[in-house]
Amino acid sequence: MLQSLSSYLLDLVFPPRCAGCLRFGHWFCDACAQAVLPAPGRPECLQCGEELPEAVNAGGVPCPACGESWGWVGAAALHEGPMQQAIHAFKYEGRVELAPNLARYLYAVAAETPWTAIFRQFDAMAPVPLHSDRFRERGYNQAELLTRSLASRADKPVLREAILRTEATRSQVGLTRAERADNVSGKFRADSQTVSGLALLLVDDVLTTGATMRECAAVLRSQGAAAVFGLALARPTMGP
Ligand SMILES: [Zn+2]
Ligand SMILES: [Zn+2]
Repeated sequence: MLQSLSSYLLDLVFPPRCAGCLRFGHWFCDACAQAVLPAPGRPECLQCGEELPEAVNAGGVPCPACGESWGWVGAAALHEGPMQQAIHAFKYEGRVELAPNLARYLYAVAAETPWTAIFRQFDAMAPVPLHSDRFRERGYNQAELLTRSLASRADKPVLREAILRTEATRSQVGLTRAERADNVSGKFRADSQTVSGLALLLVDDVLTTGATMRECAAVLRSQGAAAVFGLALARPTMGP
C-alpha cells in the first residue's frame, strides 16, 4: 500500500518516459521493445572467437575449431536504435529503473539453443565488475543491476564479487581490438575459494570485441572456475 502510494507519487513527479523514443507513459514502450533486433550469429568460443557451429549444443562441448571447452560468449540484441538509446540512458543517465525491461532480453535467449543448455548448466551468475572508483562516481554497476534482474527470472544465485576490477581502465570506446585487450589485461582478480569448481555466467551490458569478457574468463579459469559463459545485452553489428 505504502509502496504503491510512493510509486504513484514518484510517477507524478517523474512520469515514466520511454528511454527509446522519449514518449511519456512507459519506461520502454511496446513500439521500441518490438523494434529491438536480436543479435545475429551464434555464441563464440572465448578462446579462439570461432562461432559455435549449428550442430553443437554448447555446454562442456569442446570448440570444434580450437579444442577448448571452457566457454562461449554472445549477446541478446543488436546495439542499435531504441536498444542503444536505452543502454545509454541506463548506463550514463542514471535510469536504473530500466534494468528489468532490459534484462527481459537476456532472459529471452534462455529459450534458444544453445543458450538453453548453457542456462541449464551454469551454477551462478556474476556481473562484469566496475572499478570501485567508477562505482562511487556512478553509484551503481549497470552490469550488476542486469545480473540481479536476470537472476530473479532465471532463479540462479549471484556472486557479486566473483571477480573484481583491481585497476580502473580507461573507456574501451574508440580503441582498436589490440588496444582493448591490452587495456584490460591484468586488471581483474578472482578468489579461488569463491569460484573453484563452478560454471559461471558473466553478464555485461555491451559486447564489442569481447576483450573484457575474455580477460575476466581467463582470470576466473586460472582460479579454478570449471567453465565461464558470457552473455551481454547487446553488441554492435561489427567490432572494430
Ligand atoms: Zn518508445
Ligand atoms: Zn575455439
